[in-house]
Amino acid sequence: MTIILDGKKSANSIIETLRKKTAPLKQKPGLAVILANDNPASRIYVKTKEKKAKEAGFNSFVYQFDNNTTNNQIIDLIDKLNKNPDIHGILVQLPLFSRLDEQKIIEAIDPKKDVDGFHPINVGKLHIGIEPHAVCCTPRGIIRLLKDYNITLEGKNAVVIGRSNIVGKPIAALLLKENATVCIAHSRTKNLQEITKKADILISATGIPLLIKEDFVKEGAIVVDVGIIKNEEGRIIGDVDFSEVSKKTSYITPVPGGVGPMTIAMLLDNTYELYKDSINEKL
Ligand code: NAD
Repeated sequence: MTIILDGKKSANSIIETLRKKTAPLKQKPGLAVILANDNPASRIYVKTKEKKAKEAGFNSFVYQFDNNTTNNQIIDLIDKLNKNPDIHGILVQLPLFSRLDEQKIIEAIDPKKDVDGFHPINVGKLHIGIEPHAVCCTPRGIIRLLKDYNITLEGKNAVVIGRSNIVGKPIAALLLKENATVCIAHSRTKNLQEITKKADILISATGIPLLIKEDFVKEGAIVVDVGIIKNEEGRIIGDVDFSEVSKKTSYITPVPGGVGPMTIAMLLDNTYELYKDSINEKL
């Protein structure tokens, strides 16, 4: 029988731990979120992040921009937030309005406040194997969830589908750090199924609904579904055909309730770690 990797349960326990840690603090960890797009999903994400930040006892600030905003207006705000001692984490909700320069805006964030771990300094450190100020939330959440279930990664054959900067590449780097043998597949990969069938751990992050069927997975595999897709009936589904695939797996994440809640929990945990680093720097 497969074991469900319950991201909601793990995330709630992480948030509860953070709440206990922040309760006695005079100065609370501060998270700033910048929203510059009119994508309804992004608005929901930002609302959820704000709600969870408050649950953890953090101060949370949301800055919204409309489609007339310039790069410089956002960068000016980031400069102010970089200097503001009450802000410890700055997150730019992606994607941005298409006329904005995503890379330039991310690079304006002080790497010490880059709570998403997207600044090139933090990305570089992750890939070199030096501790970054923060590690991207979704990949970090996946590793944390696997560890919460005492899953050993060392020596395992891990296949990651997707090579984005926010999921595919950083999760591959983290799996390598854990001494897994890592293969990254993507949209130009030939014979995907042959590759995925060799995986002890399969992590799918494509956004292609139900791409992964039963015959893509070997018996006893651990499957992590990162995909979040709204289907025609308005239901949230993932990359993995859960009802079929879960018959073969040893562990599997559900969608929703798997990787999604862990991403938010790691965002808050990163904020708390950046807060602690800023306090230690002043000592
Ligand atoms: P992306 O579009 O940037 O990248 C998708 C990747 O999938 C690409 O690298 C592409 O090469 C690969 N791909 C596309 N079609 C493929 C195919 N047929 N076969 C093999 N590979 C294929 O997306 P992303 O930002 O990495 O996000 C991926 C999915 O994960 C989306 O559904 C997104 O909503 C979701 N997501 C979820 C969370 C979470 O917290 N659960 C966080 C981030 C992203």
